[in-house]
Amino acid sequence: MEKVVIIRYAEIHLKGKNRGFFEHVFADNLEKSLRGIRHELHRTSGRWLVEKFEEGRAEEIAERVSNVFGVHSYSIGYLIGSSMEEIFEGAKLVAPTSGTFKVETHRAYKKYPLSSMEISAEIGGRLLETFPALKVDVHTPQNTVYIDVRENGTALVFCGSEEGVGGMPVGTSGKGLLLISGGIDSPVAGYMMAKRGMTVELLHFHSYPYTNEGAKEKVVTLAKILSKYTLVTRLTTVKVTKLQEEIHAKCAPELNVTLLRRFMFRIAESFARAHGYQCLVTGESLGQVASQTIEGMTSSNAVVTLPVLRPLVGFDKEEIIARSRKIGTYETSILPFEDCCTVFLPEHPAIRPALSFIEEEEKKLDVDALVEEALSTAEKVTF
Ligand code: ATP
Ligand code: MG
Repeated sequence: MEKVVIIRYAEIHLKGKNRGFFEHVFADNLEKSLRGIRHELHRTSGRWLVEKFEEGRAEEIAERVSNVFGVHSYSIGYLIGSSMEEIFEGAKLVAPTSGTFKVETHRAYKKYPLSSMEISAEIGGRLLETFPALKVDVHTPQNTVYIDVRENGTALVFCGSEEGVGGMPVGTSGKGLLLISGGIDSPVAGYMMAKRGMTVELLHFHSYPYTNEGAKEKVVTLAKILSKYTLVTRLTTVKVTKLQEEIHAKCAPELNVTLLRRFMFRIAESFARAHGYQCLVTGESLGQVASQTIEGMTSSNAVVTLPVLRPLVGFDKEEIIARSRKIGTYETSILPFEDCCTVFLPEHPAIRPALSFIEEEEKKLDVDALVEEALSTAEKVTF
């Protein structure tokens, strides 16, 4: 009797002609999530089975696949022979021992000597005899024992299922570059794009020595947590110290953040184009802080032509925090390290800066040279 993890997928079936591609990417992602655990992954009528692993690792496998985008639900069950004796042995292992239940059978093998109804009734009856505290309730049972008689002389038994994360397989919706700070929002933004199938890789700006190693470590930790969902582990850091000092020395202090943002976008776009990313992704949310007004967003969008996706734009901070807790980044995000945005922070940042004023101030800087200089500091971090 072999323990297996049964995986059902979501949304993939909506993709018509691309179905083969989606399924291929999905299977690949499942494999990635199971790296380091001996197993076999097989497709079977509309779902995937993880088989041939050490029995004690079922929970760990279930936990890992539960975070793979595209997984609608999953169950731990048994793959067994399809004789009634074996089905009953399996059912005994997964069935509850008290409370209400029913048995539901699906029979892909139509020549099986008993009908689905007969199998359910027979196994249900035997379970009742075995566990006296059980009661049948066919309408609203607390538990449902599922039996799946397959065509190859095997059957699957499992009880109920857990919800997966849903979404679309990462790698089916293009490639985006996430501007990741050490804050709460940007990791959640990356998670959300990955959930829609986007391959998300990370770019982080630091202003060493104003920001320290701890700040960088924090971003690496966030990147590690995110990689559980995004399945990629590429993070690049870029130093913006020089251009921040220039802005600070030469431009109107209230535009400090606005100008830094424009540089971040220029650098990110240039990096994105060189590496084949199709859009930038940020954790901005409308009105959250001075630089995240529509005017602020307009001023940063004005310096790039790649699309800028802001998946959190309509979220309240509370909603973002709730998600961040759920995906496991919150505790790291709130560690108190300085981000480059808070270095040289003016007392009164401009809330609705006019583009003409911004452009006027920017003329005091050699924009292209500063962008080049920053890009030359790009460093790949592997973890
Ligand atoms: P977060 O929680 O993501 O830091 P925030 O509310 O602190 O967001 P800002 O600091 O204004 O907001 O940053 C807005 C967005 O700009 C971030 O969500 C992120 O996408 C990007 N960003 C900010 N700082 C950095 C940085 N040091 N490196 C890369 N991207 C950054
Ligand atoms: Mg921030």
